[in-house]
Amino acid sequence: MKRQEFLKTSGLIIASSLIGNCQGRVKKEKEVEARKGALRLSTTIYELQLRQAWTLSRGTWNTRRNVLVRLEKDGVVAYGESAPIPRYNESAESNQEFIQRALPVLEKDLWEYQDRWRELEALAPGQNAAKAALDMAILDWVAKSLGIPLYRFFGLDRNKTLPTTFSIGIDTVEVMQKTAQSVPAFRRLKIKVGVADDKKHIEGIRAVTDRPLVVDANEGWKDRQQALEMINWMAERGVEFVEQPMPAANLEDHRWLKERVKIPIMADESVHKIQDVPALASAFHGINIKLMKCGGLQEALRLVAVARAHGLKLMIGCMIESSLAIAAATTLTPLFDYADLDGNILINNDPFRGLTLDGDRWLLTDKPGLGVEPVIPEW
Ligand SMILES: [Mg+2]
Repeated sequence: MKRQEFLKTSGLIIASSLIGNCQGRVKKEKEVEARKGALRLSTTIYELQLRQAWTLSRGTWNTRRNVLVRLEKDGVVAYGESAPIPRYNESAESNQEFIQRALPVLEKDLWEYQDRWRELEALAPGQNAAKAALDMAILDWVAKSLGIPLYRFFGLDRNKTLPTTFSIGIDTVEVMQKTAQSVPAFRRLKIKVGVADDKKHIEGIRAVTDRPLVVDANEGWKDRQQALEMINWMAERGVEFVEQPMPAANLEDHRWLKERVKIPIMADESVHKIQDVPALASAFHGINIKLMKCGGLQEALRLVAVARAHGLKLMIGCMIESSLAIAAATTLTPLFDYADLDGNILINNDPFRGLTLDGDRWLLTDKPGLGVEPVIPEW
């Protein structure tokens, strides 16, 4: 019933936006003739406001500064987003600078998107969130140019997207309990740990819900005995798996841990590119792939293939991101075992619209490209 209601509503939205697109297209075609092949690229640093302070084992934030990319070529407007990761020496400014440097790459043929990605990768090491934004915009452009949704371009079924977990940051037990109770539609909760009060927090959550939990230590446990004790204690309390128990570089201790834990451990901070995967296979049961960490959708697809070849479980995660980047990641979820794509739920000034939650599952529409549109007036 709920779903039917949604489909009815989204049908109306699609119909009205098609009228808008048709009008826009007539106007743009004339413009394009005058400047055929011209590329317009603009970037905006956009401050995302978090609904509540966001605390992980390594810090607390109230806002995050992401970079929004608008790419226009041959009359087709496409969008990308970077959520810079400070842990990897990225900032909104460094991402923006990389995007501007990439202009000569974007001026080439975007249909050859695989070559363009390799050229972006060769431009400079790191700045993977900026590469993800450009890769997202290029693929949005390709799919829009074909007039099909991006999940169709990838050959994926939008009815098979995964439910997402809802993440609860580190806070007082009372606040964490209240948050857990405020999101009954989410069938699986992800709890941030890696601090002295971890057991108190998990017991507090358990006192108010019996839903399955997953846990993310964000490298917070420094010692393998402590990590083993914590993970097996959590296994008894309905925790399904634990993300990144110890520091990323510490593969030896993760190998030791993998042989002893009662529930799977997943690599997050330890994995970036496909080259990382072979060494991780003996140290973890699975990996968490994030567009911002690996450099975009194309590298994420390669990571899926390589990780599966090594028998690893797969989750797809996110940073604090708007509906734009969350829509991009959602298109890939049919290839994964778990999805943690809730960054846009944690903010109160989402600059994109068009992604709708059905319970705890994002619904993708049949609009071309990523299927979302900006709410910022000047865009
Ligand atoms: Mg994580």
